[in-house]
Amino acid sequence: MPTSPLDAERPAIARLLAVWPPAAIDALIAESCGLWGVPGFATKVAWRWNSRLRTTLGRACLSDQVLEFNPILLARHPDEMQPLLLHELAHLVAYDQAKAMRKRIAPHGAEWKSLMRAVGGSTRATHQLNVEGLRAKKSRRRRRRRIWFG
Ligand SMILES: [Zn+2]
Repeated sequence: MPTSPLDAERPAIARLLAVWPPAAIDALIAESCGLWGVPGFATKVAWRWNSRLRTTLGRACLSDQVLEFNPILLARHPDEMQPLLLHELAHLVAYDQAKAMRKRIAPHGAEWKSLMRAVGGSTRATHQLNVEGLRAKKSRRRRRRRIWFG
């Protein structure tokens, strides 16, 4: 007897985590940073699964250089994991490079798009996936100190 709506999703989440063990995620981060000519940046990036994310596949914390991945939505759409990882990682790299030049950039602007093209990634910024049951019941406003890109 299921005790949580999440129970039905657990096998798919387990499959996702089996396909994407930490070593595979670290390897893709290292490989992409290498292709972007910033191999050392890979060691600055942290990542985690965050099951509190709702309708977003993942996000990047620009101020902390942390990537977060939505295990429930990615379990429904496992093919999105690699594009998502590249998408969010490119946000961190673009922001880091812009900061070094004291330049302001748009989240999905030319700098980010150029990085995405360099790794053969999509420059699409939104998704049309099955988010049934994942929307927040009511919006809770919280003070945010950190800057996130999705
Ligand atoms: Zn984005």
